[in-house]
Amino acid sequence: MVIKLVILGSGGTVPTLSRNLPAMAIQCDGLLFLFDCGEGTQLQLMRARLSMGKLECICISHLHGDHVTGLPGLLMTLGQIPRERPLLICGPPGITEYTEGTRRLLGFQYQYPVEMLETSGGVVYQEGPLRIEAAPAEHSCFTLAYALIEAERPGRFLIEEAERLGIPAGPLYGRLQSGQAVTLPDGRTVQPSAVMGPPRRGRKIVYATDTRPAERVIQFARGADVLIHDGMFDDDLKDQAQMKWHSTVVQAAQVARQAQAGRLLLTHLSSRYYADAPLAEQARQVFPATTVARDLMEIDVPMYK
Ligand SMILES: [Zn+2]
Ligand SMILES: [Zn+2]
Repeated sequence: MVIKLVILGSGGTVPTLSRNLPAMAIQCDGLLFLFDCGEGTQLQLMRARLSMGKLECICISHLHGDHVTGLPGLLMTLGQIPRERPLLICGPPGITEYTEGTRRLLGFQYQYPVEMLETSGGVVYQEGPLRIEAAPAEHSCFTLAYALIEAERPGRFLIEEAERLGIPAGPLYGRLQSGQAVTLPDGRTVQPSAVMGPPRRGRKIVYATDTRPAERVIQFARGADVLIHDGMFDDDLKDQAQMKWHSTVVQAAQVARQAQAGRLLLTHLSSRYYADAPLAEQARQVFPATTVARDLMEIDVPMYK
């Protein structure tokens, strides 16, 4: 499965000409997942050439305007696109009132089923090998961090081992690969573990903004291949970050290091910053695999072999 992240909005609080308000898409083969929906997200989806019709689920972190004002417009446009699959919209308590309230006031109807899910944490989506979990972050209002998690895949079929054990090629191979023990013509029983390599781990992508650096986010992000984290301020503005319930880029790097993430993407950058390099430099002192997110940046998350 191809898993690709696309940053749609890397700014925070107010947009700039180069940074839109928060939104991130994850494309998993033919399905599209959206995390937050700041103003202008539908245009960013078009610029990124992502098909809105493929949207499976929209996960909202919290009900601050910069994260949700793009939702009514996106839903109105989606109403013009034929689809049959339901669209799931999940978020913290209040997301239904916001979504339904704006829909009613603006007087539009959905042409497709919409499922609303309010949650304080737990699994919000599960389909095939993919699931999305939510957990509380630490912000001035109730905020959810999200993790998109791919299930572990079975190990490789070790054909040399199967040949060595004298298993005849054919349907028995398939049964072993699907996890069943088989009996050979000579009466021996072979367990799948004898011919299968170790299970291959799935990928994990964590989205955590807005938030202060928090122990519970570290736990939630444990082992993430990619952590997308609030990095609103540089490290000289620690007090501002604390006061406004955000993180500095160095604090985000500490979270990534403690969570043993594969790489860190800093997002929700304050409109005061034009250059990425000084922010990246500060964070890389603590966590070298750091990138400052840019709008329309794409990141492939490779499969474990
Ligand atoms: Zn925000
Ligand atoms: Zn906020």
